[in-house]
Amino acid sequence: MDVFAGRKRRREFKMILRVTELNKNLVKNIIKWDKRFLDLAEHISQWSKDPSTQVGAVIADKDNRIVSVGYNGFPKGVNDDEERYEDREQKYSLIVHAEINAILFAQKGLKNTTLYTWPLPPCERCAGFIIQSGLETVVSIDLFSDKEGKTTDRGYRWGESFEIAQKMFQESSVNMRIYEASVWQGL
Ligand SMILES: [Zn+2]
Repeated sequence: MDVFAGRKRRREFKMILRVTELNKNLVKNIIKWDKRFLDLAEHISQWSKDPSTQVGAVIADKDNRIVSVGYNGFPKGVNDDEERYEDREQKYSLIVHAEINAILFAQKGLKNTTLYTWPLPPCERCAGFIIQSGLETVVSIDLFSDKEGKTTDRGYRWGESFEIAQKMFQESSVNMRIYEASVWQGL
């Protein structure tokens, strides 16, 4: 018998919170700031030149002060012409994800800070950097399935990567709040 099973489950629930229509009252005190920073991340995502997936990230501290922002793009000075973005394979090897840019541009330590990403939660590649940087919490939206629960294109492309990232966050005790699409759209 796994004596830790019950304890582990409770711990996981605390670490990863899926915000649904049924439990959204649990986060009513923080929903206002989650919405503000996710809206800001959405705005920042528009600065990305990637024609297919534009992602924005915001890092804020405990007092809701913005510590850093980032969006996905090629490293500074690297030729980011449109043709390079069109070549998917080349794009994936050159691009720096929004979360990493936000972590790198931060001017102070990231202990006890929160990362907000729009429109996707972090991938497994970024998860390692997020954990190592000392970030406490990740907030994002689950747009991997639609209102009927059907997997979206985005879900097919990024779903597995997100599952791995989520597991890594659980194991390393990074908190996560993930809004279901229907809750997010109603905010
Ligand atoms: Zn990533």
